[in-house]
Amino acid sequence: MTEIDPRAFGFDTRAVHAGQRPDPYTGARAVPIFQTTSYVFEDAESAAAYFNLQEYGNTYTRIMNPTVATFEERVGNLEGGAGGVAFASGLAAQAAAFFTMLVPGDHVVASSALYGGSVTQLKHLSRKLSLELTFVDPDSIDAWKDALRENTKLLYGETIGNPGGNVLDIQAVADVAHGIGAPLMIDNTFATPYLCRPIEFGADIVVHSATKFIGGHGTSIGGVVVEGGTFDWSNGRYPIVSDPSLAYHGLAFHDTFGMYGYLMKLRAESLRDLGGCLSPFNAFLFLLGLETLPLRMDRHVENALGVARFLQQHPAVERVRYPGLPDSPYAPLVAKYLPKGAGAVFAFDLAGGREAGQRFIQSLQLWSHLANVGDAKSLVIHPASTTHRQLNDDELAAAGISAGTIRLSVGLETLDDLVWDLERGLAAAAGSRVNGVAEVVA
Ligand SMILES: *Cc1c(COP(=O)(O)O)cnc(C)c1O
Repeated sequence: MTEIDPRAFGFDTRAVHAGQRPDPYTGARAVPIFQTTSYVFEDAESAAAYFNLQEYGNTYTRIMNPTVATFEERVGNLEGGAGGVAFASGLAAQAAAFFTMLVPGDHVVASSALYGGSVTQLKHLSRKLSLELTFVDPDSIDAWKDALRENTKLLYGETIGNPGGNVLDIQAVADVAHGIGAPLMIDNTFATPYLCRPIEFGADIVVHSATKFIGGHGTSIGGVVVEGGTFDWSNGRYPIVSDPSLAYHGLAFHDTFGMYGYLMKLRAESLRDLGGCLSPFNAFLFLLGLETLPLRMDRHVENALGVARFLQQHPAVERVRYPGLPDSPYAPLVAKYLPKGAGAVFAFDLAGGREAGQRFIQSLQLWSHLANVGDAKSLVIHPASTTHRQLNDDELAAAGISAGTIRLSVGLETLDDLVWDLERGLAAAAGSRVNGVAEVVA
């Protein structure tokens, strides 16, 4: 008999093991892909108990699946939360997180530097669901405070904003939220739990687009919501979470499940009713991604810093907005929240504006021009004409984007090769002829 050692395992160990034991039926060491829609009940009684949420068991893969559950538990563990619920995409995860706690008439305060898709989502959802919405400069704690209203039910920001590189003072914004009995939700996609764990600094809910660094190889879309389990949903401001649920035969989620109340409601109601579940196969790929997350993030950060330093000294570059540079205005916040590095997604501004931007992107060979981040491969995009296209000029300016802004997602290639390609791009941007076409890259 081996005794269970109460050792607190390190992050890298948990990235490989959390939420999983070898499969009891087959001994399989890898996480099996349970590609099944549904599960045979042992008997009529346990079936009823599952559907009443009196017992926790698999019923139907829209609501839970063992492969997906391993992924949920692992991310929940790595973030230091009570648990997680996975979704078909990052935006599905965010939508469900809102849907679970907000009702018409509620007010949300969000960072103006959110991911473009999140800004668009919030604007349209708020109109359709009659929510009130205020975007604030995430760097100004006074702006967060001044935006609060009687009916403010959620504050929402990102660990590292896109593409401005704003690093959020999570602890200060969490204090503002908790001062009025509201939770702080953080999109931690760009940092991953390896670089920052917002719950340790007071955040209550963490959301991820697993599509990015968690998956890490540009293969799969998915998302996850993690909750800290410490927010008091029974403080009188969230009857939708604390009162008996009409959508669940009068079940009072927070009373019944305590620290798991919000997560249970997120799964049993929002995932059930909105239906955007993660496929078991994508969960499997995300689990593979998590196993190497610490290794990959170290290399992503190292390459990002190398690329940022190269760009910073180049005459065709006006400004580099990598918060990991020592002279970044965000350096003190990076030291506090991102001691292992400021991620690998950042923007820089080309001298010469829109045309220079297009010439630059078109002459690159190794960097792929596409709308994603967090891949092993290095990626590049021009936000004003793509990801942030739905935003008007004022919103663009509020998000810190200009016509010459280029966003990079620095991958895992040899740093010298990345710099070689950028050098060619910058020469093209500046209008000179590009020589020396590489033969190794198609
Ligand atoms: C991609 C992304 C999202 C949306 O996630 P999807 O998986 O594409 O739905 C949300 N937030 C951030 C920061 C992202 O990069």
